[in-house]
Amino acid sequence: MRLTELAAMRQALTLAALRTGATSPNPPVGCVILDPSGEVLAAGFHGRKGEPHAEVNALRAAGARAHGATAVVTLEPCCHVGVTPACHQALIDAGVARVVVALEDPTSRGQGGIALLRQAGIDVVVGTGEQEAELLLHPWLHSLAEGRPYLIWAAGTDSRSSERLREFAAPQVDIVVDHGEVTEAIPGRHHPDVLRTPAEPLPNTPDEAIAVLSSTGARRVLILGGEADPAVASLVTGGWIDRILTHTRDLATPSLDGRTAGIIDLPAGWMLTGLHPVGDGVIADHRPEGLSTTAAQELR
Ligand SMILES: [Zn+2]
Repeated sequence: MRLTELAAMRQALTLAALRTGATSPNPPVGCVILDPSGEVLAAGFHGRKGEPHAEVNALRAAGARAHGATAVVTLEPCCHVGVTPACHQALIDAGVARVVVALEDPTSRGQGGIALLRQAGIDVVVGTGEQEAELLLHPWLHSLAEGRPYLIWAAGTDSRSSERLREFAAPQVDIVVDHGEVTEAIPGRHHPDVLRTPAEPLPNTPDEAIAVLSSTGARRVLILGGEADPAVASLVTGGWIDRILTHTRDLATPSLDGRTAGIIDLPAGWMLTGLHPVGDGVIADHRPEGLSTTAAQELR
C-alpha cells in the first residue's frame, strides 16, 4: 500500500495510541517505514518502558529494505541508549535516507536526535502532522511541562456512573485513584519496575497528593469520586485537575433527577469539549477554556 508521508504519520499516531497508558514515563510513539515510492515497508510502536522503541521495532521489521527508505516517526528520535541503541543511531545504521517527524522532543532543546540525524547527512523534515500529533501527546507534553501527571477527574455521581467512567478512561491512564487508593489502571500493563504505587492512601492535602502522584512514575492519572470526597474537592478547588468526565445514564424517561443526569457544578473557566455516547448513556468531556482546539480534543 502506498501512503503520503502525512497519511503515514496518521497511521503512526494511531499505532502509538494502542499503548496510551502503557508506555509511561515514556511517551507513546509510532513509526512507519516507507520506500521512496511511498510503499509501506514496515511499522512499529513502543510497547512499554523497558522494551524497544517504535523506530527500532519498525526497522527490525523492515530489515535490509530500510536502506534508502523514509522513516515517519511521531516524536523526535531519542538519544537514549537503553535496552536498544539510541533511535537516531539505529536509523543512521539502517541507512535510512529521510526521517519525517511530527513533534520535537521538548527535552532535546535542539541537541537531540534531529540534529544528529542531520549531521549524519539524513534529510529530516519536522512538523508533518504536528497539530494532529498533539491529539496523542498533549497529556505527556503537559506532564513534562508541569512536572506532574496529567489529572483526569471522573466525577461519578453514583457507583454505576463511576464504573462506566472507569471503563472508558482506564485505557488512557497509568494509574487510578479510587477512595484514596492508588492502583495500576489496567493491571500488568506496565513493565513491573516502572510504576511505584504507594501502599498508603493518597494524602488529603493537594500539594502532598500531587507529590505522591508525581513520584509514582505515572504521566496520566484518573481520579474517581464525587465532589463530596474531600481529597477530590481539594484537587478541584486547588486547580490541579486537567480534564473532567461525567456520565449521564439513559433511563428512557424524559425527566431525570440531578444525580442520574450526572450534573456537577463545573469549576469556573471550564467548558464542554466532547460528548461520547457509551452503551447505557453519555460521557461528557470538559476541559479548561482557552486550550487550543487540538489540545482540547486530545485523544478522547
Ligand atoms: Zn528511542
